[in-house]
Formats: sequence, structure tokens, C-alpha cells
Amino acid sequence: MERNEGILFVLSGPSGVGKGTVREAIMEGRNETLHYSISVTTRKPRDGEIDGVDYFFKSKVEFEQMIKNNELLEWAEYVGNYYGTPIKYVQKMLKKGNDVLLEIEVQGAMQVKQNFPNAVFIFLMPPSLTELKNRITNRGTEEAHLIENRMSVAKEEIQLMTQYDYVVENDEVEAACHRIQAIICAEHYRKDRLYYKYKNMLEVE
Ligand code: 5GP
Repeated sequence: MERNEGILFVLSGPSGVGKGTVREAIMEGRNETLHYSISVTTRKPRDGEIDGVDYFFKSKVEFEQMIKNNELLEWAEYVGNYYGTPIKYVQKMLKKGNDVLLEIEVQGAMQVKQNFPNAVFIFLMPPSLTELKNRITNRGTEEAHLIENRMSVAKEEIQLMTQYDYVVENDEVEAACHRIQAIICAEHYRKDRLYYKYKNMLEVE
């Protein structure tokens, strides 16, 4: 672990669990050393979304070029669109000693695990499958016949929970947000991360 490097936090979980809402709540807490990594996507902007704020919106050709140029830390195809994390920003922030938060789906999170083994993986869990179904249904973006499909994908995604360091239930946004902030805080006091800071005090004369 390099001295003074920031920590990479990966927030993931099944489709419909509320990752985006929880991430927004965490970032509203204005922790100045925590930076959200804006993703690149080929999906079309939704009403109110701003390029460079919500996502960097790119064409398929541009995205594929980024893959070829190794500009992405991870990427995945999700419901017919590409999503990915630009690597430069993450590296720059971590080197400066800032923490970085990724909010990504599970396939991408597993890629990060390969490349950044020191990252901290947080899995957002729905209180129950019934509640997850309610959320997917109430989101209103899914047609009825797609909901069952979404649910079977979500059940598979939930199996990946065992690959994560922490599991946080999203029963209520504010509560989930506080739990994650506690994790972010505690991770800074892990012995391995502080070893370099106190190394000189450990040397016997
Ligand atoms: P949405 O289209 O609703 O904004 O996002 C769809 C899914 O893509 C969400 O589960 C979100 O977490 C995920 N996602 C957003 N950015 C990235 C990314 O950079 N990489 C990966 N792998 N998934 C992402």
C-alpha cells in the first residue's frame, strides 16, 4: 500500500436497490476528501441530466475507442448500453491522497477487484426481494413484462454479495448513507493503511 494514497470505495449492488440515490446522499455530505468518479456512458441523457455532471455522454464508437486506448478502469454493457470508469481521474485523485467513490453495477465492480485489490467494496442490499420488486415496479421506467426479467437478473446479482467487504441494507436512504459514511471513516484507521505513518515509532534502538 503506497504512502498517503487515497482509498478507492466501490458502491455496488443489484439493479433497483437505490445505488444512485444513496450515492447522491453520500456526496451531499460534502466530504471534501471524497470525490465521485463521473462515469462514461453510451445511453442517452435523461431529462435534467448534464454532460460532465451526471455522466460523460459518448457515442458507441467513442466508447469503444476508450476501451482500445485502455482509458477505462472497468467497463460493462448494461441493458444495451456501455458504462465505464475513466482511469485517469481515479489515479490522479488517489495519488493526491483523496478518496474516490465509484457507483457501478456488479460486473464492473468485479473488474475493479482484479485491478485494485486494496479498494473497499460495499454491497448495497435490499431489505427483501419483495421490497426490491416494489422499487423496480415503482420506478416506472420498466414495462411490466420486463420486471420479472429484471428480478431474475437482480437475484443473480445478489449472489455476488459474498465477494464484498461490507454489506449495507438500504432500508432507508439516510440510514444507509450514515452506515457507509461510518465505513469510509473507519477504513482510514486500518493498521495496514497507517503502517507507514508510524513506522519510525516502531523501530527499536
Ligand atoms: P443508469 O442508466 O440508471 O444511470 O445506470 C444503470 C446502471 O449502471 C446502474 O446500476 C449504475 O450503478 C451503473 N453504472 C453507472 N456508471 C457505471 C460505470 O462506470 N461502470 C459500471 N460498470 N456501471 C456503471
